[in-house]
Amino acid sequence: MPATVTVWEKDPALAARIITVPAPDIAKTPLAFHLIPSLGDNPPKAVEFRYWNAAATLRRAADFWAASSQPPVKWRGGQVMDVFLDRGEALNSEYDGVTLSFYHGSTAGHPTLVVYSGESPDLLCHELGHAVLDAIRSDLFEADELEVKAFGESFGDMSAVLCAMQLPTFCSFVLAEILGRDFWSSSSLSRVGQQFGSALRLVKPADADVDCLRNAWNNHFYIDPAQLSQVGLADAIWANAHSFSRIFTGAFFEALSGMLSVRAGTSLEPETLRQVSDDMRDILVGATRRVQLVPRFAAEIAAAMVEESDKYDHGYPNVFQGVFVRRNILPQAIS
Ligand SMILES: [Zn+2]
Repeated sequence: MPATVTVWEKDPALAARIITVPAPDIAKTPLAFHLIPSLGDNPPKAVEFRYWNAAATLRRAADFWAASSQPPVKWRGGQVMDVFLDRGEALNSEYDGVTLSFYHGSTAGHPTLVVYSGESPDLLCHELGHAVLDAIRSDLFEADELEVKAFGESFGDMSAVLCAMQLPTFCSFVLAEILGRDFWSSSSLSRVGQQFGSALRLVKPADADVDCLRNAWNNHFYIDPAQLSQVGLADAIWANAHSFSRIFTGAFFEALSGMLSVRAGTSLEPETLRQVSDDMRDILVGATRRVQLVPRFAAEIAAAMVEESDKYDHGYPNVFQGVFVRRNILPQAIS
């Protein structure tokens, strides 16, 4: 095993953003992994890169969630989760309740440009988010209602954003990128799955935002699922868990910006971003553990987050309440 490995920070589309980190111990518990196929002798360079990229990203993401105030102690299926690094040809990645699977694919217009979903830390952390949610609340993972399924998709995207915020180098990069702008703006942090999104958009235009798979910086508002159309375009919310998930993820990213203002005002440092991402993780896990599985689920989890946030900073509840009300996720307070 090498002492160090070189991996993407967040997404292959950010081609200059690579880091060298200690080789990860994927067999470490809690939340261990078994990567399939294992790395044989003298693998091709690209295969070796993708293996260590997945191993280091999943280890970092699992360690992040395992450090939460009410952590999952094992996967739903046990201590070790199987991860299939390349299960065949498809523009897809999935968590099926037991294993994580990643694929490779290309588009008709660009047959030589092959996208490996398991090469993107964003997609790795998204799928791991599904597994973490399942480990915490398997009833939420199993539920069929659109609002609950959408929360699962949102949990995955929130996992991608929060795990990227664990890297001081990436936080510095994002702060330089948004210099002079609000944190609540489109950035390399908010754009989840840029490379995969650019491929998927060519095949299924309604399934990817214009600049990535799903942008956490958005202005989508809650709509009663009963009023949604069954099909739609990428810029609208329609009756699809991925599409609908952007409402909650948008509120999450807006709340993250508000939390940063509470903690640090306008002088943001990489360390502040990491601290606030830890707070957000703990608020999210705490609320997820206690939330009731009810028909208006988005409002229920939002209310639980408002309440939970007070444990971490008395300035947080106003931030969450304001964002969730603005997005029509929570009703206006009766004065
Ligand atoms: Zn998903």
